[in-house]
Amino acid sequence: MDREQLAEHLRFAAELGVDGVSRDPAWRNKGDGSHFQTPDSSSKPVPFFREPAEALAGVKTFIGECTRCKLSGLGRTQVVFGVGNPSADLMFVGEAPGADEDVQGVPFVGRAGQLLTKIIEAIGLRREDVYIANVIKCRPPQNRNPEPDEIETCEPFLFQQIDVIKPKVIVTLGKFAAQCLLRSEEPISRLRGRLFDYRGAKLIPTFHPAYLLRNPASKREVWEDMKLVKKLLMSPEP
Ligand code: URA
Repeated sequence: MDREQLAEHLRFAAELGVDGVSRDPAWRNKGDGSHFQTPDSSSKPVPFFREPAEALAGVKTFIGECTRCKLSGLGRTQVVFGVGNPSADLMFVGEAPGADEDVQGVPFVGRAGQLLTKIIEAIGLRREDVYIANVIKCRPPQNRNPEPDEIETCEPFLFQQIDVIKPKVIVTLGKFAAQCLLRSEEPISRLRGRLFDYRGAKLIPTFHPAYLLRNPASKREVWEDMKLVKKLLMSPEP
């Protein structure tokens, strides 16, 4: 993170009422309302963004009609922030919005998105139960791969979403999201089938639904991954 990004991060945190950070694992506990609470001399909670929904709304407002990277001038219609339950135990992370998502402002609503919805329903959940976001919030032109400067600019917002939601399980969809979150260059074929610890959650890399549309035989592996997701969600300590 360079100085400007760090400064922006700190301005953002200050806007949320955060005046410090902690390495104490208890800080990550869900539901204690402490993560956006500013301790003061009387220890009274301040009324800013104590609920994940409010905190997420704060992140969204902060992003605004973003022009921080060149994608804002390359034909994107709007920022596609994320959708779903702000307190979700399960979060899906994809690459970047495509054409349908760019028009509707919602991630995973095209053909790949419809398949993702079926995958979610296959483990007895609804789209509204989970949270869905992308590493990159704006559509790259012609659906090209996101470029390093775009990733560097946009990924802090995904990290903020994860830190607010505190999911138990994160499923990355496809090579790009897995490599980005895990800071890895290994191919998805090597990352898939493994379980990672990531920002207090369990991270499961799986194939992208768009890949499954082209390679339906790989649905078998994704189903294995989703069975593990279900097991982790049902266990008290994943
Ligand atoms: N592919 C993605 O990675 N994200 C979307 O939102 C849609 C398609």
